[in-house]
Parts: sequence; C-alpha cells; structure tokens
Amino acid sequence: MKSFSLPIKWKLTLWYGGILALILVTFSSGVYIYFQNSLQKSIDTKIKSIAEVLASSMTEAHGQSLFGNFERYLENALGKKPKGKFIQIIDASGKIGARLNDLEAEAVPVSFVTLERALKGETVYETLESARPRLRMITMPILDAKKVTSIVQVGSSLEEFEDTMKRLLIIMIISIITSISATIVVGYFMAKKTMKPVDQIRRAAVKISSTNLDERIDIKKGRKDEMGRLAETFNAMISRLKDSFQRINQFSIDVSHELKTPLTILKGETELALRKERTNEEYIRSLQSNLEEIDRMSRIIDDLLLLSKAETKDIGMNLDKIELRDLVADVCLNMKLFGENKGVDVVVRELEDIRIIGDELKLRRMITNVVENGIKYGHPGGHVTVSSCKQNGFACINVEDDGPGISPEDIKYIFDRFYRADRSRKRESGSGLGLSISKWIAEAHNGTIEVESKPAAGSLFTIKLPMS
Ligand code: ADP
Repeated sequence: MKSFSLPIKWKLTLWYGGILALILVTFSSGVYIYFQNSLQKSIDTKIKSIAEVLASSMTEAHGQSLFGNFERYLENALGKKPKGKFIQIIDASGKIGARLNDLEAEAVPVSFVTLERALKGETVYETLESARPRLRMITMPILDAKKVTSIVQVGSSLEEFEDTMKRLLIIMIISIITSISATIVVGYFMAKKTMKPVDQIRRAAVKISSTNLDERIDIKKGRKDEMGRLAETFNAMISRLKDSFQRINQFSIDVSHELKTPLTILKGETELALRKERTNEEYIRSLQSNLEEIDRMSRIIDDLLLLSKAETKDIGMNLDKIELRDLVADVCLNMKLFGENKGVDVVVRELEDIRIIGDELKLRRMITNVVENGIKYGHPGGHVTVSSCKQNGFACINVEDDGPGISPEDIKYIFDRFYRADRSRKRESGSGLGLSISKWIAEAHNGTIEVESKPAAGSLFTIKLPMS
C-alpha cells in the first residue's frame, strides 16, 4: 500500500505554526500568571494597609466604643470613605461589633477556623469563593498588651480583578489565534514559492529520457538562493547527460564505421578470390591482404578495450624505476627504420639523465605513438626531433616535427577518440585512437601531454611526467 506523506510545504507550514503556537502559549501563560499574581498582591497590600490603620487606631482608643457611627469613624481613621469594601470588627467572643458593607454582596460568612487562627494572633488571607462577588479578605487580630482584644476583617471585591483577567485572557486568545493563522497563511505561501523549483525539477525529470534531453527548468533570472542553485545544477547535469549521450552515440557510429571498412575490404577480397580458380600466389596475396585487415581490426578492438578499461579504472599499472633516457633512445632506435621507409629522419637530441617511476610498456607505447605520428604525417625529407629534459620537478619529452601541422580547429579534438584531422587521408594513417591512449597513459602517471602546432610549419608534442 502506498504510504501517505505530507508535502514538504505543508510540513514546513505546520512546523512554523506549531512552534509559534508553543512559544506564544508559553509566553502568554507566563504573562497571565505574573499579571494575576501582581494584581492579587496589590489587592492584598491594599486590604492589609486598611486593616493595619484600623488596628492601630483602635489600640490607641483602648477599647472605647468607637462604633457609634462606624462609617464616620472609618472616614476619620482612613482619611477617606472606603469604597467597594467590606469591613467588620469582631470582639474576642466572636460577636460582630461593627460592620460596613459597601459591596453588592449578601451576608458574608465568617469562617470559624479563620476566627480561631486570628484569636491565636495570626493574620489570615483568604479568598471567599462562595461570596458573590468573590472576596479577598484579610482577618487581622488587634492586640493590646499581647492579648487579642478584637479582630478586624477587611474584604475587597474581586469583581474588577476578575473582569481585568477575563479581558486579558480574551485579548491573548485573539492575538494567539490571529498570529498563528497569519503565520500559517504567510508560511504556506512562502513555502509554496520556495518549493516551486523542486516541483519544476520533478516535472522536468518525469519528461526526461535518452531521447528527450532538451528539457530544462525555467529559473527566474538572478535567483541565486539554494533553490536557484539546485535548478542550475540540475540543468547543468542534464546538459552533461546530453553531451554524454551524444558522445556515446558518436562513439558507436565511429566504432561501426572503423570496423565496417576493413570488413568490407575483407568481404570484397574474399569474394574476388572465390570468383574463379586462382593460382597459389594469388591465393597467398589475397590471404595476406585479409590478414592485414584482420590485424587492423584486432588492433582497433584492443585499443578500444584498453580505453574502456581505462575509463572504468580497471587497468593495472606495473610500476617500476625507469631510466627515461634509455627508454626514449630505444623507442627512437626502433622508429628509425620506420622513418627511413617514409623518408623521415628521426633525430635524437639532448637526452638528460632522468629517473621516473612508471609502467614501462605503457610509457613506451605513448612515446612510440607520438614519434610514429611525426613520421606518419611528415613529408619525405622531413625530420622528427626527440629530446628530454628536467623542468620544475617534471621530466619533459619533446617530440617536434616539420610536417603539415594541425589546424586550430582540429587541435582541440586530436586527443578525442577516433578523431582524425584529415579524414580523407589514407586509412593506413591510423584509426584516431593513438593520441587518446597516449593522453590516458600520461594522466595515469599523473602527467600531461600537450601540443603546439602551426599549419604547414610542424607540431611540437610535450609530455610531462613527475620525476621519482
Ligand atoms: P591516428 O591513428 O589517426 O594517428 P592519433 O590519435 O594518433 O590517431 O592522432 C589523431 C589525429 O591527430 C591524426 O589523425 C592526425 O590528423 C593528427 N595528428 C597527430 N599527430 C600529428 C602530427 N605530428 N602532425 C600532424 N597531425 C597529427
């Protein structure tokens, strides 16, 4: 069963909303509790100060009856008429001596436990939940010579306090809901906008196949953020894939073409030989010609095998200490005869004493390829000059010829597989794999191979290999 997964834009939005809700609720609860406590404290301070004023004025009066007009007495003692308060004086026997009730409350019950505690000299604060409105009440003993003579009770209505707290709660709830809704809406649109290129990439990826590599993601110009870079990287990857596919295509065409020519010749030669009775010499000539084509095909196949193994790094290197001077001299000696046949002189000049670490067979093949090319493409009477030297920690082998040179258009491609500068040249000139193999050998030794050339003036191939 396909499991459902919430889209990222929704996940992001819900995360924003959730975290914001948590922060706001925690913060608002803190503010609410702090506000509630400080309001309650200020009510307690107010009723305590009234109770204290009354207690001290009554102590001074030494138990005289002051309650003739309790309201006036309070006005005198407190300096103003107490508003919204419940005040009563209880004597030591528990009898209510005087009372002022400026509340819209019914009779306020006097708790027996509270009175008991007050009679023991304790000041008691309590919230009377059953009173309507709820009351905050202080019960304070009045002492005369360390003896409780009477008790004063001051109560204040909590109606205003409750109203304030209720209003604060409503404001908080509305602000929390509004901020979270706004965050969810804005967050959703932002996440949607951010994720748009990802969706485009997905849609483009669905359309892409080996036959459709022209699909690209349309990124807004100048978008340089992560999403812009992701889209750019994706586009670059498709371009590289397109290049690779094209190269593979071209490669298959080239391989078929290279193998088709010798096969056609083989077929033609064989058909011709079989057309009528031939002499032994004619058969031998025909078989020799066929053998040449077979040799050519197996050389191409060997080279291709080597290159594909090189690409998959599936090729071993037989590393050894090599005296470069001996190796170059030996290659040149072997090539001299081939040069003589073509009328090109192979000249060896300044071979320095250099030791390198490498695979001798492969290095021999690389140098042979380059010297052989100088001879193959050289004019009769021309020269191929070979020298070697040390340069910045590298061993350099220079192979210079005075042949036809390579045009600037061709020079970029001569190290590519099957590339031949002049395709109309004789087939015997080669299959176009020699320099790509040489390049791989140089790079496998952490070296380079470069060429400088001017048409009609000759070419200079420089191989650089790290010294041991
Ligand atoms: P090939 O087997 O055709 O020689 P290479 O890979 O060795 O293949 O060389 C690729 C192409 O580079 C050749 O076909 C030729 O056109 C050009 N080239 C290589 N070396 C020389 C040179 N010394 N002078 C002129 N052209 C050269």
